[in-house]
Amino acid sequence: MSDYPGVIANLLILLIFPIGYLSMPRLKNRQNRIFVGLLALQIAVIPFDFAVGWTEAHPSVLAFPARMGYALLSLLCAYWFFLFTAEVLRLKPAEAPWRRFSPLVLIASEVLTLTAAATGRLALMYGFLSLFAVLYSAASLFLIFRFRERLNRYECVSAAGSHLLLSAGYLLHIVFPSHMLVGTVNLMACIKFYLAFENPHLYMANRGNSFNMRAFRDVMDERIRKNSYRILAFALRDYIEMRGIYGGAQMDKGVAMIGRFLVQTYPEYQVFYLRSGRFVILAPETMDWEQVQREIYDRFQAPWIADDAELDLGAAFIQVEPATGLDSVDRILNYIFLAFENFGETLPNAHGLIDAESIRRIDRQIEIKRSLDRCLERNEVEIFLQPLIDSRSRTLAGAEVLCRIRDEAGNLISPAVFVPIAEQNGCINLMGEQVFEKACQFVRDHDMEQIGLSWINVNLSPIQCMRKDLSERFSNILHQYGVSTEIIHLEITEQTVMDISRLEQQIDILRGIGFRFSLDDYGSGYSNLSRVKQYPFANIKLDMGIVWDYIRDKDVLLPTIVQAFKQMGFSVTAEGIEDGVMADTMSELGCDYLQGYYFSKPLPVEEFVSKYTLSA
Ligand code: C2E
Ligand code: MG
Ligand code: MG
Repeated sequence: MSDYPGVIANLLILLIFPIGYLSMPRLKNRQNRIFVGLLALQIAVIPFDFAVGWTEAHPSVLAFPARMGYALLSLLCAYWFFLFTAEVLRLKPAEAPWRRFSPLVLIASEVLTLTAAATGRLALMYGFLSLFAVLYSAASLFLIFRFRERLNRYECVSAAGSHLLLSAGYLLHIVFPSHMLVGTVNLMACIKFYLAFENPHLYMANRGNSFNMRAFRDVMDERIRKNSYRILAFALRDYIEMRGIYGGAQMDKGVAMIGRFLVQTYPEYQVFYLRSGRFVILAPETMDWEQVQREIYDRFQAPWIADDAELDLGAAFIQVEPATGLDSVDRILNYIFLAFENFGETLPNAHGLIDAESIRRIDRQIEIKRSLDRCLERNEVEIFLQPLIDSRSRTLAGAEVLCRIRDEAGNLISPAVFVPIAEQNGCINLMGEQVFEKACQFVRDHDMEQIGLSWINVNLSPIQCMRKDLSERFSNILHQYGVSTEIIHLEITEQTVMDISRLEQQIDILRGIGFRFSLDDYGSGYSNLSRVKQYPFANIKLDMGIVWDYIRDKDVLLPTIVQAFKQMGFSVTAEGIEDGVMADTMSELGCDYLQGYYFSKPLPVEEFVSKYTLSA
């Protein structure tokens, strides 16, 4: 028999739910559809519950349909809780293969329960109902326990608690059939599930118009399984600097405005804000992303007006093709973030496509980072030596130390690739120190005179010069190996972004303890002729680019520059000498030293030593 006031209270609470729930933006995913179905079933079962109780007290022709409807819907409710649990656990079909039979169990349970209901055996009907409902909850509890690491503690306790509550309600119902516990425990389980998994605040980005990272993970997980999606991501350019300029509060308002613009302009797509100025638009494969990108780009041409501040922001775009075979949300997010780093959030109008090719490139970059970390950790950075040839005698004068690392397979990786990465993530200091130490070790272990070496050049990144204790550390290493500073020259490349006064200070300190300096890659873009005069360099190395340009198309510029350097007292080295004609031409121009493949490629230490010791 029904407890009428209780049923009415349940109904009222259940009606409040959808009003709040349905009025908020919802994710278009299976979990939400199942939850909406669960709410609908809860509401649908109430009139039948009411009618069963009523017709027990007042027998009428309605008793039969009431019982049938009640039995049918109640079992569906129990089954739907099970479906919802499996969904929040993100189970793949292979992970619980027995789940395939759950619809069959549902059909069998409906047949048994409806037969009992049809024949008027109410106790049997309630018995079957309770039995199968407890069975679904037991299966759910098993899944929750088995895959508990996929839920956080609160979610786990809520989900398990809901099913224990449901089981207790159904079991008590067998003992006390006249107390309408079932409706109430169903409602309580719904509320617990809502709070743990469906509360819109769990999925909304800070100002509540776009969805957040958690929402993206949930929806994407499903899209990946179906392999049908299109992603257009964009990042606000120089987000951190912009926050500094406009202030956090204004920027948050700006971000919220952008979110609102996207949600309003593209109601058919889902918009996510992944923090730090990064948005993602997720759409079906039919989205014309070129057009969407153009529209967003156009909007960014006008300022975003937050309160009385005008925010001038720019965006860099990334498109992700499903055909890339990215098989997890983590990988997709990883590639989006890495692509922003690579394509440069700082470039105007930057945009890129994450396709199979860029995945390969990014994978290679990740591999290089890993190899770099591994080599530094194990002190496995290698040094190669390339001869510096006296242009007049054409004999060995010095050598440049060039570093190398190896990937997992043992292949060499070029410093042109990993040095910029090392400079970016700060490990250039450790790398430079290991190279310097190995150069000192080379000097200690070999008879330099016998090889024909008067000095060796070690490259120094300008970033290393930002370290205050650089000279102290280098001095210690020199001391440890018993090597004097005269034999080691340092090559440094000038970079526009550097703190020049700090660099000059550092050069002065290092010169103070006896190091001599070469300016590397002169003419590669950063070097500034007027500033060269102020630096106390001993040698200038002409970048291979300007050497090759001159060989291709002779003009007066390079000879003039070389003469000017010589008059200023610098010796000059020409890099990139690949044949005899180049060697002769650069010698005639007045270069003192020549470096290039014509004489030798950079060689492993032992190879270099045996080659030049023999010829000495
Ligand atoms: P760099 O200091 O200008 O070194 C000269 C580069 O030119 C070397 O490349 C060398 O192999 C290459 N090279 C020499 N002769 C020829 C030639 O005739 N033709 C061509 N095409 N190339 C030639 P590598 O060894 O790949 O090094 C690239 C850059 O990586 C170096 O340029 C240097 O800037 C940086 N690097 C290398 N080792 C170190 C290091 O220990 N520390 C730092 N901070 N940077 C390093
Ligand atoms: Mg160099
Ligand atoms: Mg160079």
